[in-house]
Amino acid sequence: MHAGVILIVEDEQTVRDVASLYLQKEGFRVVSAVDGEEALEMIRSENPDLVILDIMLPKKDGWTVCREIRQYQSVPIIILSAKGEEYDRVLGLELGADDYVTKPFSPRELVARVKAVLRRSGPATDPGQVLRYPGLTIDTAAHRVEVNGREIPLTPKEFELLVFLASRPRRVFNREQLLSAVWGYEFSGDTRTVDTHIKRLREKLRGTGQSYLKTVWGLGYKFEV
Ligand code: CA
Repeated sequence: MHAGVILIVEDEQTVRDVASLYLQKEGFRVVSAVDGEEALEMIRSENPDLVILDIMLPKKDGWTVCREIRQYQSVPIIILSAKGEEYDRVLGLELGADDYVTKPFSPRELVARVKAVLRRSGPATDPGQVLRYPGLTIDTAAHRVEVNGREIPLTPKEFELLVFLASRPRRVFNREQLLSAVWGYEFSGDTRTVDTHIKRLREKLRGTGQSYLKTVWGLGYKFEV
């Protein structure tokens, strides 16, 4: 099990290589994109846990990429740029970036920032975590889900699917990603399995009065409050 998938968007190969090396040593799987358009494609295809985003990029600059990501994704973003001015820092944070690292950077510092941002924004890795949302309580250790204080019966896969999405709110996952996360990579089933489980979960969560499991047309599903 790797520590997570990091997408590095950077047109300078040396920077990409150094950052990849240090992140891989820490157990991350690293994928990279060399321009803004490729970055947006990779976000859809790889669904990274965090994006390291350079600003001066071919085709689409980092600001545009950041803005476009934020229209449909809450994936953490660390801006990586030679521009260290206060203006850029503020703009980055306004566009929804989570942190800002200026070049030249220390690779160790970058790794530390990545870990810190993942800790802040990612799902808690504590197996005894209790997720609480309006009308909905998910006790991951006890495998117990309550709707308005009353326990509802879920199958193991329904439970896993709900925990996977509910611990990563606002992040969009496609059916293949949900299949591999919940059913495992070996599962050779149909992606419609995901749809039927989502449908059943929606019925079971109806008592919350919320539509937590949202369909994102053309992409997949997300959990949203
Ligand atoms: Ca650049």
